[in-house]
Amino acid sequence: MKVVIIGGGVAGLGVGLRLVQAGAEVIVLERAQPGGGATAAAAGMIAVTAELLDAHAAEIEFARNSNALWPDFAKEVEALSGQKVGFAARGAMILAADAAGHARLSRKATESGLSMLDEAAVRALAPLVTGPQAGALWSPAEAVVDAKALGVALAIAFEKAGGKLVTNAEVGRIERKGGRAVTAHTAAGPYHADVFLLAAGAWSGLLESSIAPITPVKGEMIALAPPKGQALPEQVIWGHGVYVVPRGGRLLVGATMNVAGFDTGLTQEAARGLRAGVEALLPATRDWKTMDHWAGLRPRAPDGLPLLGPTRVDGLWLAGGQFRNGILFAPAIAQAVADQLLGKANPIPAFDPRRLK
Ligand SMILES: Cc1cc2nc3c(=O)[nH]c(=O)nc-3n(C[C@H](O)[C@H](O)[C@H](O)COP(=O)(O)OP(=O)(O)OC[C@H]3O[C@@H](n4cnc5c(N)ncnc54)[C@H](O)[C@@H]3O)c2cc1C
Repeated sequence: MKVVIIGGGVAGLGVGLRLVQAGAEVIVLERAQPGGGATAAAAGMIAVTAELLDAHAAEIEFARNSNALWPDFAKEVEALSGQKVGFAARGAMILAADAAGHARLSRKATESGLSMLDEAAVRALAPLVTGPQAGALWSPAEAVVDAKALGVALAIAFEKAGGKLVTNAEVGRIERKGGRAVTAHTAAGPYHADVFLLAAGAWSGLLESSIAPITPVKGEMIALAPPKGQALPEQVIWGHGVYVVPRGGRLLVGATMNVAGFDTGLTQEAARGLRAGVEALLPATRDWKTMDHWAGLRPRAPDGLPLLGPTRVDGLWLAGGQFRNGILFAPAIAQAVADQLLGKANPIPAFDPRRLK
């Protein structure tokens, strides 16, 4: 089977890797450089608890499955690529804003077999949380990955496994013949295949608006550096409308959510809002310097659920719509979409692209 994948982000490269390993001929067409889209912008949380507090049951199950795949997936990508991806499971803490928030988190903790921390236990684990707080949900095995490094490593792993990656190759159109997708057109020439997998992230809807009605949701983040001698928190911490993620000696602070088309311009309003949030969460960061500020576009489907599997057009498949969880979902998407394409699994009904009329 010959598969052309459009988009070299975590989704396209992950599925590509699994397909190549299963013996398929796979070409990834990437309009810029691999991993440079939302994948590079991500905080890298494998946020199986915080992101799923109010999620659809199918998404919770998929996330738990993916979370379980992550440790081996990270090892495999590192072994294949020879590059580190910064996978580390140091836990995540979700601070309760007030008594009602505490009650809600306590219910979630019970459902998930997790525990609640009182104020003293929060301080013992995260001494930088010095403001008044109402306790926290603690998920000790929750992990993070360096999403930027992951995109680069996945591209190397995919090529080493036998996949072909073509960079600076923007697909302008997917041609149909007799109702079937037959050719992906780029400025450098046409690519024919048995199957086309559209994995172009937030830009998927630009190519196929009715089949892949995915739209961008902008997110801005900042990174802070502590003064010499001050330590970063070890774990991911959520509270005061932000989350913080330690990575490479810096503290990433995220993230805004804005529907702003394809604009990725940086705004002072976002930088100020993120700083205010982190200073309320970790007051010591008032003295920390902002070292970086960036934006990315999350791919969102109209109902907020992923779009994974075959579409109404023969030969045209989708791996998209992961919204805020594309890094968390990466190993499960790679496996599920590859298995479906190889006829070894059925689409997950809640994520079947054909659910959208
Ligand atoms: C600020 C921010 C923080 C986030 N934090 C997290 C997090 O902590 N945890 C988490 O799980 N998720 C997080 N996410 C979400 C996650 O980043 C995305 O869900 C995920 O990266 C989507 O992966 P993708 O491969 O579908 O898209 P992308 O990574 O955007 O890749 C799509 C690729 O397609 C290419 N492309 C587009 N159009 C074409 C074309 N016509 N032809 C060829 N190539 C094309 C692009 O250049 C790009 O490389 C975050 C997102 C943002 C913006």
